[in-house]
Amino acid sequence: MTEKLQSAFKKLTGKGKLSESDVKEAMRDVRMALLEADVNYAVVKEFVNKVTEKAIGQGVLESLTPGQQVIKIVNEQLIELMGSSQSKIKWASAPPTVIMMVGLQGSGKTTTSAKLAGYLAKQGKNPLLVACDIYRPAAVKQLQIVGQKVNIPVFSLEGANPVAISQQALEYAKKHSNDVVILDTAGRLHIDDEMMQELEDIKSSVHPDEILLVVDAMTGQDAVNVAKNFNERLAIDGVVLTKLDGDTRGGAALSVKAVTGKPIKFVGMGEKLDDLEPFHPDRIASRILGMGDVLTLIEKAQAAVDEKKAMELENKLRNQQFTLEDFLDQLHEIKKMGPLSQIMDMLPGINAKKMGKIQVDDKELGRIEAIINSMTKQERREPAIINGSRRRRIAKGSGTTIQEVNRLLKQFEETKRLMRQFTSMEKSGRRGMLKL
Ligand code: GDP
Ligand code: MG
Repeated sequence: MTEKLQSAFKKLTGKGKLSESDVKEAMRDVRMALLEADVNYAVVKEFVNKVTEKAIGQGVLESLTPGQQVIKIVNEQLIELMGSSQSKIKWASAPPTVIMMVGLQGSGKTTTSAKLAGYLAKQGKNPLLVACDIYRPAAVKQLQIVGQKVNIPVFSLEGANPVAISQQALEYAKKHSNDVVILDTAGRLHIDDEMMQELEDIKSSVHPDEILLVVDAMTGQDAVNVAKNFNERLAIDGVVLTKLDGDTRGGAALSVKAVTGKPIKFVGMGEKLDDLEPFHPDRIASRILGMGDVLTLIEKAQAAVDEKKAMELENKLRNQQFTLEDFLDQLHEIKKMGPLSQIMDMLPGINAKKMGKIQVDDKELGRIEAIINSMTKQERREPAIINGSRRRRIAKGSGTTIQEVNRLLKQFEETKRLMRQFTSMEKSGRRGMLKL
């Protein structure tokens, strides 16, 4: 899939401008690549539509080739498709937190249970593993072996059914101050009613805080169907995608969230017991794109755009050419970055209280815009010429008051002064600060 995508992008590089047909052609290739990677058909369709819409509607960024720009958009959409940020375990308000592992036979439940227990122990938890798979004699033994390897106690009970085992394990955990209980349940080769019934029984008797479905990434589209089925029956909380270390096509990682609405929380990256990682959509996305380097480059290019703007501004300041138009631009930038006071807090040597005067909210910004728009070009470039009668005219034209016009002009002067301060800070070695 990676190769396919790369060739799709290659076709785009070297073009000066991103036309609608460029995007459409690239998207045909992206679509094929995703389908071949076993991504769910409906997911692909929606994905391609979204990327097309975004790519066509967007101007090509400075410093990026059209090809890079499409990669950027595809990457962003991939991340969004997989759930944007990493999803964590839901902790019980009163311990122990009960985590129930479910999934088909061979998907990796037992291995993942031990991995997860070890992972949580490293974070200061005191987990208990519970052997609920009573159908294969070797299953209990297997959990005991892996439990020992990660140094986690294993609760088992001969002759009892999984519901009774789970309940008694909970009692045991409370007595032994285990704050996490991980239930390793039995799977089947295929989804069947008996298995689901048993899982439902365990669920309704111990009310797990977290039901994690373990699916094998190597089964591709099947993994997604399994996830859909389990979710419909059990209302799972998240998915662990195992065997992502193998020769898998990644399609499952892309479709699970979109099809079930449930996030992937962890990925299994090998047979060893520390081969469990929290799921990071951005990492998987760049892995799927096979373009880690290109993505870094794109980030840099983007930073360069900001840097270039900052340089322009710096020059303007130095040459006393900072105008009210620039001021308005800057206010828009500031609004994008968040509350001004927060930005000020990040800068040493700035009196944040004094800066409180330059707070901008939407309404204020609208007024400032109206005032500046009511000025002539010359006034915007040389505010010094704005005398009393000009102020009256501007106030009237913008539907504001003379006081407001005065305040704006004062803010402008203050900003100019501050920016000069930033500029000299820059020179004393604080590069990148002049984003204001
Ligand atoms: P269960 O039947 O669901 O309990 O599955 P097991 O935990 O017994 O795992 C089945 C097989 O998959 C074992 O051989 C595991 O070593 C292997 N396995 C589990 N997770 C991973 C993984 O992330 N990567 C690889 N390569 N193998 C895994
Ligand atoms: Mg097992």
